[in-house]
Amino acid sequence: MKQPRALPAPGPLPDEAGAVFQAVRRGLPLGFAALAFVAAAMHSAGRGWWLLAGTGALASAWSSFIGGEAFLRKHHAVMQQDALWANALRPLARLLGREEAWILSFCGANNRRVRAAFANRRARRTLILLPHCIQLSRCKAEILDDLGACYDCGLCPVGDYMNAALLNRWEGRITNRSHKAYREAREYRPDLVVAVSCPDRLLKGLTKLTDIPIYVIPLSLPHAMCVDTDFSVPHLFAAMEALVEPRRPLGDVQTLRHEGIA
Ligand code: SF4
Repeated sequence: MKQPRALPAPGPLPDEAGAVFQAVRRGLPLGFAALAFVAAAMHSAGRGWWLLAGTGALASAWSSFIGGEAFLRKHHAVMQQDALWANALRPLARLLGREEAWILSFCGANNRRVRAAFANRRARRTLILLPHCIQLSRCKAEILDDLGACYDCGLCPVGDYMNAALLNRWEGRITNRSHKAYREAREYRPDLVVAVSCPDRLLKGLTKLTDIPIYVIPLSLPHAMCVDTDFSVPHLFAAMEALVEPRRPLGDVQTLRHEGIA
């Protein structure tokens, strides 16, 4: 039997991207509203329509300023609007060769708001969603059926996650299909989801699960999509420590250790 190795320390949460998305999300409707009100002041013909358009643009910009507890209360409406902007401008970002940066900026802006919302009142019922592609592709451990099947050989992030999940009694799912992850989230009804996935799936998740606040962590894809992917385990630990009410002090539960099989 191996000796238990030290798990990665949580550390502070990293700075979030998101400035570009937020600037566009606010700047475009505010700019349009200003133009519409100037047009209404200068042209008496069609003034009502300009005023209506300006007011609509202001209303659209307003939801981007909602934060804290209000963000949780109005989460569905706020995220529907944000997702609309993210998806509408994605083709333009693709055209400019900045598609992934645009999606990650949207994810970062979302994370900033989630962090602010849970800064004073941590989540009590949290679900972690991980993609199956973090498991080493040549590993035969049946972790989809039972996370405890992982032999913690250290060749992929699953072992570290399994030990931390056991120690802290985290609720989590590793799934091989997005729709299964969405179903798990809807059935479990968490206060917060912490989701790890590739940028494309994170955007889809944030677009589809607008009822639930989601803190997202992007995968890195050193071997292209869906094969032996990786993510920052310390980032996941830091998110759980910062956003989630602890369920059990560290050290109460023995970690699982087996000889590696991969
Ligand atoms: S046994 Fe090793 S390679 Fe397989 S899932 Fe666990 S840590 Fe990853």
